[in-house]
Amino acid sequence: MDLRDRLAAIVGPGNVITTATDLAPYLKEERGLFHGAARCAVRPATTAEVAEVVRLCAETSIPMVPQGGNTGLCGGGVPSEDGRAVVISTERLTRIRKIDPIDFTLIAEAGCVLASLQAAAAEVGCLFPLSLGAEGSCRIGGNISTNAGGTNVLRYGTTRDLVLGLEVVLPDGQIWHGLKALRKDNTGYDLRHLFIGAEGTLGIVTAAVLKLFPAPHERQTALIALPHLDAALGVFARARRASGDCVTACELIPRIGLNLGLRHIAGIRDPFAVPHPWYLLLELSSSRTDSLRGTLEDVLAEAMAEDLAADAILAESGEQRQSLWRIREAIPEAQKREGGSIKHDVAVATSLVPEMIKRCTQAVEAALPGVRVVAFGHLGDGNTHFNLTQPKDCDTQAFLDQWGRMNRIVHDIVTDMGGSISAEHGIGRLKVDELAHYKPSLDIDLMRRIKRAFDPQGLMNPGKVVP
Ligand SMILES: Cc1cc2nc3c(=O)[nH]c(=O)nc-3n(C[C@H](O)[C@H](O)[C@H](O)COP(=O)(O)OP(=O)(O)OC[C@H]3O[C@@H](n4cnc5c(N)ncnc54)[C@H](O)[C@@H]3O)c2cc1C
Repeated sequence: MDLRDRLAAIVGPGNVITTATDLAPYLKEERGLFHGAARCAVRPATTAEVAEVVRLCAETSIPMVPQGGNTGLCGGGVPSEDGRAVVISTERLTRIRKIDPIDFTLIAEAGCVLASLQAAAAEVGCLFPLSLGAEGSCRIGGNISTNAGGTNVLRYGTTRDLVLGLEVVLPDGQIWHGLKALRKDNTGYDLRHLFIGAEGTLGIVTAAVLKLFPAPHERQTALIALPHLDAALGVFARARRASGDCVTACELIPRIGLNLGLRHIAGIRDPFAVPHPWYLLLELSSSRTDSLRGTLEDVLAEAMAEDLAADAILAESGEQRQSLWRIREAIPEAQKREGGSIKHDVAVATSLVPEMIKRCTQAVEAALPGVRVVAFGHLGDGNTHFNLTQPKDCDTQAFLDQWGRMNRIVHDIVTDMGGSISAEHGIGRLKVDELAHYKPSLDIDLMRRIKRAFDPQGLMNPGKVVP
């Protein structure tokens, strides 16, 4: 029997994908930066099937590439071009095994789409707070493996903070049973954390115990026009203090981000009469229903009195809230339609975000005259998508050829400020060289030792993350 027949015997013939057309979506990624090849993609439906598939690949020395919703932004789920790997997709691992509104936990299989878990939590009066633009297609195993961030990190943490336990198929096919729902467990090394953010290099996550929270009953959202960038910090800190830490999202939007949305995305409109240089999208939420509107109004009145806000709009309805969020969420798509983009997903301490944006802007504008900086993102947790749009009338490829040079300028400054060159998107294939450049050699050495301990044959998602 050849490999495909043996795989078919495990998952059923319809779940071994081999034809070029059917295989194509598994071989490319969201941004079109990477295009790989593979023997086939397999779609196991249970943890036992995943384990059997992995055991077979391990015995026959075949590289494996785990894949969830394939929305990752660093090429981590795309196989290499040599065509030797098998893609192992989690798309049929979609059972919610248990939901417990007393323990505030949910046990989900790795292929559950994030939005479906949010909905399941809401049905029992709970919140699963992980939220990001790709939530309609990314899968929880992918979120865990990239330690995804998103818009609610400042209140609820990253995915790492939301995972209590994991079930993982190791690179030799053994199943690690770590599906514990404990809030306290100090029994030696906390192994789950090695798999979170490992981007599929240490094993395949098949299920997870996730933390839930009481569902919010009140949500107040405002778009605040800022007179200058530094004002963002004052408004944010004030809102946190005044609301008893009920700020759930604090997103920074530059004028150019709104302009691109107005130009390219249907339904976006400028809610203010005059343009402002920066905006802050602030959202407060609480599981109580008594307080936040007045708090937010007071915060805005004070901010205006102290010249930290030039104008503000409070959402009066769910529809208006969505239209304010749309301005923020439309930026990546609008940027794509404007031409070539060079992207940076960086983090510094929140208090340093304005200085970082100013230093990086000055440096890239000096290095590449005409480049348009579109710096936006999760100000509340210090994460900025410091993206560059090509100069007007510039050849797109000539601009994209500057990717490495621009990365070096921005990442040097961010590193100098004690920050991270990959805040929430991970390393994948895209940033392996950058990681090797910036991470201390001891860190790299420890990462390699961990990789070797789990995957001595180097078969689990080779070429990703570990330099
Ligand atoms: C429009 C848009 C908005 C986004 N916004 C955000 C954002 O705000 N914050 C953020 O953090 N990210 C964001 N992302 C990136 C992306 O959605 C996240 O990285 C997401 O967590 C990836 O999930 P996925 O299921 O698509 O994983 P994939 O892309 O399929 O895989 C990502 C990595 O995880 C590995 N992997 C996948 N499943 C498993 C598994 N079960 N076990 C082991 N390894 C596995 C893959 O091998 C790969 O290395 C955005 C992407 C898009 C397209």
